[in-house]
Amino acid sequence: MFKHLFEPITIKGTTIRNRIMSTGHDTGLPTDGVVNEALVAYQEARAAGGVGLIVLQVSGVHETARYTTHLLMATEDHCIDGYRQVAEAVHRHGATVFAQLFHPGREILEAPEGMAPVAYAPSASPNERFHVMPRPLNHRMIREVVSGFGDAARRMWLAGIDGVEIVASHGYLPSQFLNPRVNRREDEYGGSLENRLRFLREVMQDIRSKTSEDFIMGLRISGNEMDPEGLSEDESLEAIEALAGGLDYVNVIAGNSSSTGGAIHIVPPMTVKNAYMAPFAAKVRKRIRIPVFVAGRINQPQEAEAVLSNGQADVCGMTRALISDPEMPNKAMQGRVDDIRACIGCNQACIGHFQMGLPISCIQNPQSGREIVFKNLKPASRSKRVMVVGGGPAGMKAAVTAAARGHDVTLFEAQERLGGQALLAQLLPGRAEFGGLVTNLLRELELSQVQVRKGVRVDRQLIEQLDPDAVIVATGARPFEPDMVRDGEIQVVNAWQVLQGDVAVGSSVLVTDWRSDWIGIGVAEQLARKGCSVRLAVNGRMAGETIPSYVRDHSIAALHRLGVPIIPYARLYGCDTDTVYLQHTASGEPMVIEGVDTLVLCHGHAPDMTLSEALDASSIHAYFIGDCLAPRTAEEAIYEAVKVASTL
Ligand code: SF4
Repeated sequence: MFKHLFEPITIKGTTIRNRIMSTGHDTGLPTDGVVNEALVAYQEARAAGGVGLIVLQVSGVHETARYTTHLLMATEDHCIDGYRQVAEAVHRHGATVFAQLFHPGREILEAPEGMAPVAYAPSASPNERFHVMPRPLNHRMIREVVSGFGDAARRMWLAGIDGVEIVASHGYLPSQFLNPRVNRREDEYGGSLENRLRFLREVMQDIRSKTSEDFIMGLRISGNEMDPEGLSEDESLEAIEALAGGLDYVNVIAGNSSSTGGAIHIVPPMTVKNAYMAPFAAKVRKRIRIPVFVAGRINQPQEAEAVLSNGQADVCGMTRALISDPEMPNKAMQGRVDDIRACIGCNQACIGHFQMGLPISCIQNPQSGREIVFKNLKPASRSKRVMVVGGGPAGMKAAVTAAARGHDVTLFEAQERLGGQALLAQLLPGRAEFGGLVTNLLRELELSQVQVRKGVRVDRQLIEQLDPDAVIVATGARPFEPDMVRDGEIQVVNAWQVLQGDVAVGSSVLVTDWRSDWIGIGVAEQLARKGCSVRLAVNGRMAGETIPSYVRDHSIAALHRLGVPIIPYARLYGCDTDTVYLQHTASGEPMVIEGVDTLVLCHGHAPDMTLSEALDASSIHAYFIGDCLAPRTAEEAIYEAVKVASTL
C-alpha cells in the first residue's frame, strides 16, 4: 500500500528509515532556552511511533535571534547536553534527528519583560505584522551572526545531532537578505542576486568549516512567500538553484511571517488544499540533484505516498499528523490506516497554543505535549462499571479512555447519532474536515469494548436503576438566547437553525456574534455565498478574535472577498420590524443597522443543566465534563474526558 513511503533514503551516509518527517515546529515546551525533559519526551514519542526524520524546533544562533522569550538557544556550550539527550532518545527508536538554525531578523514577536524589541535586519524595512522597525545590520554584526550559525551547528554536531537545517523560510533573516524589496542595501550584501546570496553562502561555509564532512546541512525555504512583498516562486527557485551545489537537501514550504496573508501559510488551516506545495517541490526536484523535502497540509499517509510516487518530492513533512497521532507511521506500515487519528487541520492546540505562549498539544490528543503528565494511562486497579452520558466528543473520549483502562463502560446518547456539536461545526464553510474528529472517535469506539446505547435519554431514575460505580456526564450545551428588546416582526433565528437548514433566511441578514469564534464568521460566509446581503456585527475587537489567527485571517479574507462588512465592538441591544439596535462596547453609543429582514444570533451556548439539577438532590456522585460543565470548545471537552477517565 505504501511502496514509496517506507523506502529508506540515505543522505551523506545517514540512512533515514522512511520518508515521513516531523518538520521543525515550535513546541513551547522548553522553559529556559535549552532542551528539557518535556521536549525529549515529546520527540521520543514521535520517534517511537515510527517517524523517519525529526527536525527539531528552531534554535537561535545569536543573542539578537530571540523572537520569543522561550526560544531554544544554541549560543553557549551548555546547550550541548540537552541536544545530546534528545538525539539519544530519538536514535534509541531508530529515527534520525536534525536541528534548525535560526535568526528571525525583523520577525520579532516579543521581547523580555514585555518591552518592545530591538530587531536587526539587512535594511530598515518595516515589519507589517508585528509593527517592528528593524535596525540595519552593520558588517561586524553580520560577521557575528554568520559565525553564530557555524558555532551553533558545531554544538549540535558535538551533541550527536545528525544534521542541521538553515531556516531561510517564512521571511526570516536569510530570506530578508534574499528579498530585494526587504534588502535595500547598497554594499556587497545587497543589489544583485550574487550579493543577496552572499549572507547565505557565508553561513553555509561557516557551518561546513566547523563540522565534519559527513554532517548533513540542508536549507528550508518558502517556495512562495504568498505576499506581494515576499519572495516569489521564481525568486525562490533562482536562489535554490544557485545554492543547491553546497547543500545536502532542500526543504520547501510556503508563507511569510511578516504579513497577515503570508503568515496563514506558516501553518495552513483546513481551508487550504492538501499537499498544495507538492507541485512547487516537483519543479525544484527537476532542477537540482539533491533530495527535496516538502510540507504543507500533508495529513494522511495516502497523500504522502501520492506525492512520493508522483516523483514530486523525496520526503514529506507530516508534522500535525504526528502531533495528532505519533503512532501514525507505525499504523500505516501495519496497514492499519483506519486506526490513524487523522489531523483535522484545526490549528487550535498546536500552533494555537504557541500563539498564546503555551506548550503545544492537540485537541484530539491531549497527551501530545503532555507526555510526562499522561505517561502511560495505567490500567485501573479495579474494573468499575462506568456510565457515560452524552455521545459528543467529551463523552466518546471519556468512554474509550475509561475502557482502555479496563473499565466496563456504557455510553448513552439521546440522539440516534454520535458526535454532538462537532456534527454542526463540520457544516460551516470550509470546515468539513472538522467532522474527522467524530470519525476518529467512532473508530476508537469501534476498537474498544464500550457498549453504545443510542436514542436513550438518561435521567436520574435510569442511573439509580443501573447503579454504576461511576457516572460521567457530558450532555453538552444549548444555544444561548440573549435578553434583548423586541418590538416588531423581524425574523430572529440562531446559528444552529441556519446550519441545519431549519429556517428560511431572508435576503438581508445581520449576524450578531457574541463569542467572536468560528460560528459567526462561518454563518456569515455561508449566507453570503448563498446570495444574501450579509453584515456581521461582532462583540469583540475583530471577527474571530478568540480563534487561532491563521484560521481567522483566512476566513476574514474570504468575507472581504464576498463583500461582507464587519462591525466590531457591537453589543446586541434589540430589534424592531426591520432595524437592529446595537451598542458600541467601548463608547456605549447606539449603532443602528437598518434594512434587516433576518437576525441570526451567534451568541454561544448555555450548559445543559438538566441532569446536574436532577442529581443535585441525590447521593449519586457524577463527573461533569465538556460543555455541560461550561460551554467551551472540543479541546477542553476532550482534555477533561481524558483527565477524568484516567483517574477512575
Ligand atoms: Fe491537527 Fe488540530 Fe491537533 Fe493541531 S490541534 S494537530 S491541527 S488536529
